[in-house]
Amino acid sequence: MQDRRGLLIILSSPSGAGKSTLAKRLMAWDEGLKFSVSATTRAPREGEEHGREYYFLEEKQFKDMVTDGQMLEHAHVFGNFYGSPAGPVKETIDAGRDVLFDVDWQGEIQIRNSDLAKHALSIFILPPSITELRRRLETRGQDDAAVINKRMQKSWDEISHWGSYDYVLVNDDLDATEARLKTIIEAERLRREQQPWLQNHVRQLQSEYEDTQ
Ligand code: ADP
Ligand code: 5GP
Repeated sequence: MQDRRGLLIILSSPSGAGKSTLAKRLMAWDEGLKFSVSATTRAPREGEEHGREYYFLEEKQFKDMVTDGQMLEHAHVFGNFYGSPAGPVKETIDAGRDVLFDVDWQGEIQIRNSDLAKHALSIFILPPSITELRRRLETRGQDDAAVINKRMQKSWDEISHWGSYDYVLVNDDLDATEARLKTIIEAERLRREQQPWLQNHVRQLQSEYEDTQ
């Protein structure tokens, strides 16, 4: 089979727009897709497991990783540190698998400016309305009213960065958004930079062409 390079697929959205739901659907669609498990200094929520949702670290451990250059990107969000460990990302894309990131706008900018930028693809998920965003946070049933209000206050800050993303989707109908996401990923996998085997293929075409002259 023809080898390919993996993509760094960055998904961002204000909390409640549907990013985690869409990420889960993408992972179910393509089992080869690897979720980038971030490190964070925030406390685990009920049901969250170290190494699955996040690596839950002490602040010193987190800062040591940053100092040692082990984070592809990192940011301070809602009073806690978050970061994407670089090692697994490089290994995964070199093995021809895509990595899915759930990071905020600060993470998107840093990945854009990293040496892996040419393999990165960023998608921003917008809610259909602010009323619907609040409704989704409420029906998700994960947070109390105070936390929901805090998330709503932060949502505009996140939305205001929509303009730096490659693609922007309004997550109105979930199935339609999922289908659009898949279309984007399938097209991006065909980018020239993602298909290193093409070099050889074109060389072969050239020698065949010259033989026929
Ligand atoms: P995020 O990860 O962006 O914070 P979630 O994926 O947790 O958001 O979604 C928030 C809530 O909204 C969940 O209860 C989810 O089932 C629901 N939801 C997500 N997308 C849609 C959609 N297109 N239409 C209706 N409800 C949605
Ligand atoms: P939560 O604490 O609700 O899981 O995440 C809060 C916010 O932090 C979300 O907007 C999420 O996208 C962002 N986030 C999670 N992991 C990372 C990361 O590794 N880097 C950055 N920059 N943001 C992250």
